[in-house]
Amino acid sequence: MDYCKQFRVTPGSKVDLSQIDAGYKDGQKSRATASTEIKAYQKKMQELQYLMYAEGKRSLLICLQGGDAAGKDGTIKHVLGAMNPQGCRVTGFKVPSHTEAAHDFLWRYHRATPERGQVAIFNRSHYEDVLVVRVHNLVPEAVWSKRYEHINHFEKLLHDNNTHILKFYLHIDAEEQLKRFKKRIDDPKRHWKISDSDYAERPLWHEYTQAFEAALSKCSTEHAPWFIIPSNHKWFRNLAISHIVAETLESLNMQFPEPTVDINEIKQKYHEMVEEEKEEEENSK
Ligand code: ADP
Repeated sequence: MDYCKQFRVTPGSKVDLSQIDAGYKDGQKSRATASTEIKAYQKKMQELQYLMYAEGKRSLLICLQGGDAAGKDGTIKHVLGAMNPQGCRVTGFKVPSHTEAAHDFLWRYHRATPERGQVAIFNRSHYEDVLVVRVHNLVPEAVWSKRYEHINHFEKLLHDNNTHILKFYLHIDAEEQLKRFKKRIDDPKRHWKISDSDYAERPLWHEYTQAFEAALSKCSTEHAPWFIIPSNHKWFRNLAISHIVAETLESLNMQFPEPTVDINEIKQKYHEMVEEEKEEEENSK
């Protein structure tokens, strides 16, 4: 199955999340078979990230969004963690600082976009400004409603500058979220992850769903598509995302740059050097 096509939100379509099964796991697949596939995609991802770094012409921006406990941290750890840290930067976005809030809403995100040859991962992203901000009326509707257009322009600007953008919405249902909250309560090592806001946001599930649907519908474009990833099964989420990232990198058809030196000349120099060193060693015996 081509998950790039299957989970991509068609530009201009209207998303209804209630029609999308968060527990989907692609028929015959199981955690065990997925694990082998995920490893293969991760290997591909590593090789292509190296190629992107070597080529130095373009970059990749991955945005992760989802409700509380949807698995943003787990996706970074288990899937994207395969990337070489030398060419990859993760930025998490929390409530804006005083300085951030004193600028236009995109300012802090633009500063974290990837330079050529690099991958950037956004753990939460500029979409918070049409999600939490919309649900909690942090700015008037007249302000947040214009942001979809601002976001589309921003992403077009990045795309025109050779940044490829992939946006993943991690789709879990309300029942799965409750299960994950319970797991956190039962495991002392996860207590630090529990926040009051998890419980404050849950009653707003419907409002968040509406806000996500608006963002997914208005901002999935040819150059910066949204993917809705069924994420109740963590292994399936990991499989789908690793597949999409690896296949997207492959489709870029990147090329190693031409060497800046004459390789035959260098080979000759190398052999001469080895011969010289051998001779010196013989002479010193
Ligand atoms: P996380 O849940 O990402 O692991 P936190 O528990 O610290 O980390 O949550 C970050 C909080 O920051 C979330 O409640 C999120 O909605 C909030 N946040 C992020 N961006 C914005 C924004 N632009 N305006 C208001 N709140 C935001």
